[in-house]
Amino acid sequence: MEKVILVRYEEIFLKGLNKKIFENQLMRNIKDRLSPLGKVTVTRSQSRIYVESSDQGFDWDEAIIRLQKIFGIASISPVEKVESDYDAIKAKTLETIDKMLKKYQYKTFKVEAKRGDKKFPLNSPQICADLGGYILANFPSLKVNVHNPDFIFYVEVRESTYLYSEIIPGAKGLPTGTGGKATLLLSGGIDSPVAGWMIAKRGVTIDAVYFHSYPYTSDRAKDKVVKLAEILSRYCMGINLHIVPFTDIQLKINEKCPHEYLTIIMRRYMMKIAQRIAEKSGSLGLVTGESIGQVASQTMESMLVTNHAVSMPVYRPLVGMDKNEVIDIAKRIDTYDTSILPYEDCCTIFVARHPVTRPSLEKCLEYEKVLDEQGLIDEAVEKTEVVKIL
Ligand code: ATP
Ligand code: MG
Repeated sequence: MEKVILVRYEEIFLKGLNKKIFENQLMRNIKDRLSPLGKVTVTRSQSRIYVESSDQGFDWDEAIIRLQKIFGIASISPVEKVESDYDAIKAKTLETIDKMLKKYQYKTFKVEAKRGDKKFPLNSPQICADLGGYILANFPSLKVNVHNPDFIFYVEVRESTYLYSEIIPGAKGLPTGTGGKATLLLSGGIDSPVAGWMIAKRGVTIDAVYFHSYPYTSDRAKDKVVKLAEILSRYCMGINLHIVPFTDIQLKINEKCPHEYLTIIMRRYMMKIAQRIAEKSGSLGLVTGESIGQVASQTMESMLVTNHAVSMPVYRPLVGMDKNEVIDIAKRIDTYDTSILPYEDCCTIFVARHPVTRPSLEKCLEYEKVLDEQGLIDEAVEKTEVVKIL
């Protein structure tokens, strides 16, 4: 008898070859995230994944927390595993429910059984009826309620038998590593970490780029972005964070271009540099936290002008969301508290007092002519620092 975690995934959406790739990647990701906790085996059988460890010190609670952040998992259950022998099942049932009633004030239950192994002498309804009666006889405080029970006691008879009552929702989505790679423009704000999480949820591996304006933004602002990348990385199976020194470029734009075009030209430089870094790392697109109309620089016109700076697709997963919807996700994925720490980001320092809300592409291209684009970008890329976050 041992402790096991049962992992379910939504394989009904998968067909043919995709299914194998999905399953293998999911198993690798689970192994990667759990092996620092101790010796662990991850196996698959009948479209279920089983996580087992005979390691005495294995931290099961932490394992559950980590599993909840792995994309591609529909739900998880801590289960008790016994041999598929009815006496052994009954004995373990008593032990499990006894433990549960010491913890929770449950009054009603029902049994749900699934017999996957046709050699087992009782069929599913027979297991429900017989085991239900057995539980009633042994725990006089419990009653059966088939419609709205306090807990459901699940019994799955396969090669081994699995007993459980808890179903914990997973992160859903697709396993990281099945969807190519994208480069996220990660600031210290609320939006971009959420945008990165949403793209990552679709199985996409994330690389991040942060534009740092030292000394106009302090190293604490940079630490905050590193912290955000660390939180995101728990969902993303690791992130490479590229920290680009951006001050020289900002000073040059500030000096040479009309003030109302400062923000938009700066944004175009961010995109160009991000694309350079993305190309080097094999990324297939850029991701930002922009949403239409959220601030003066996020109009349709601005987005047209920023997109024009690059040839790669720019993904904006928050494009149609309200701030409150973004905040809800940020809280759920644990980035919110870090995002609202009050360290200034570069955009609050080099802000135009009256930025154009409808920038014109022709004017932008005209104003940018005075800048040594190639030189500025080469230098920024060359001085970029890469932090590998696991
Ligand atoms: P966020 O909350 O993500 O900072 P925001 O609402 O503050 O977004 P902007 O400042 O207009 O919006 O930035 C729009 C997007 O540009 C950000 O979501 C992010 O993807 C990118 N961005 C802005 N500043 C930086 C930066 N210093 N480094 C990297 N990306 C940035
Ligand atoms: Mg911001």
